Amino acid sequence: SLPLRELDPDVAAAVDAELHRQQSTLEMIASENFAPAAVMAAQGSVLTNKYAEGYPGRRYYGGCEHVDVIEQLAIDRVKELFGAEAANVQPHSGAQANAAAMFALLKPGDTILGLDLAHGGHLTHGMRINYSGKLYNVVPYHVRASDMRIDMDEVEQLALAHRPKMIVAGWSAYPRRLDFAAFRRIADTVGAYLMVDMAHFAGLVAAGLHPNPVPYADVVTTTTHKTLGGPRGGVILSRADLAKKINSAVFPGQQGGPLEHVVAAKAVAFKVAASQAFKERQQRTLDGARILAGRLLADDVAEAGITVLTGGTEVHLVLVDLRNSALDGQQAEDRLHRIGITVNRNAVPFDPRPPMISSGLRIGTPALATRGFEAGEFREVADVIALALKEELTDERADLLRGRVTALAGTFPLYADQNGFAG
Ligand code: PLP
Repeated sequence: SLPLRELDPDVAAAVDAELHRQQSTLEMIASENFAPAAVMAAQGSVLTNKYAEGYPGRRYYGGCEHVDVIEQLAIDRVKELFGAEAANVQPHSGAQANAAAMFALLKPGDTILGLDLAHGGHLTHGMRINYSGKLYNVVPYHVRASDMRIDMDEVEQLALAHRPKMIVAGWSAYPRRLDFAAFRRIADTVGAYLMVDMAHFAGLVAAGLHPNPVPYADVVTTTTHKTLGGPRGGVILSRADLAKKINSAVFPGQQGGPLEHVVAAKAVAFKVAASQAFKERQQRTLDGARILAGRLLADDVAEAGITVLTGGTEVHLVLVDLRNSALDGQQAEDRLHRIGITVNRNAVPFDPRPPMISSGLRIGTPALATRGFEAGEFREVADVIALALKEELTDERADLLRGRVTALAGTFPLYADQNGFAG
């Protein structure tokens, strides 16, 4: 069979260009990472050919003896990693995992509490035109304007007033740890399920550097491609007594055939996540985020009206607050893009600017930590970001900063033996 470059030069050229982009720029989108070559090898394997509806030992197709081994490895490893009683490794994505977990435990029209999208929640936690907002009666909770932290008093009041069937704790843009014990207590008070969506911070949990929600929650969902650093996909962890409902909500409730090539890649990623090297990398991720927050809180940046939400971070990301700056989120994202740093603009709570423009930036350190960055390199990239944001970028300053970015990228080769990855 023909190599990709010959069979489809158009796709091959775009893949190669993307490889070059990843190698030559600094990836600071908080939800992104670089999967190890072994994860990509598993994902690019012959498993892509196999149908395996059902679960290990109970399939609706023949020839599943090898994928059974793989899926069982993934299940056992992820249970061990997070101390969970049960795991479903088949959800195609984080959104699918959330949809299936809700489908398992709720009926259409049931009430759920979730963190408002505009305050850092995810689309699947109740956004109006998401399945969650259409199927369920959503009551959003918020952060306090005074300190931008989740207002647990409000969560409790809303729970008492609306008697939800489920409380969702988790976020896509929030720089602090959640109080899982308080969420559990409130859920118990009103007889609600507690679902924690740890998609963003699962890698930190696996490394023991963030509280583990599993002992508190009825169900915990995650993606496998963010801090966890595996293939794009989802996982549902739960108490043993909910496993049957959840399995049946994933298949046949939500999905058909599982992506066993992705399940294999998840299994590899879970093995990596149990290693000492992974723990050390998550520590550098946290250190890098703290260094970045510290630099962006310095006086020279504050003079430009720029600050950091909640005055720091306890996780792998920093939320830059541009509400008092002439620079808006769109301009800030473009400015960093111009010098080779990729981030995403993000609405901040109580944002006066429209969502497409926004007054915030979300900047994460997982991908750079995977690349090998230590404190010294994080100090350098933090300084480059601070200088780029605090004043207008002339061509001369942009060249200078781009040079510093290129030097950093060059010091940490990425997929160095994969040049011409597309074959
Ligand atoms: N949950 C949270 C908290 C997320 O941040 C995301 C990703 O954006 C998801 C779920 C959805 O994951 P996916 O993009 O794989 O559907």
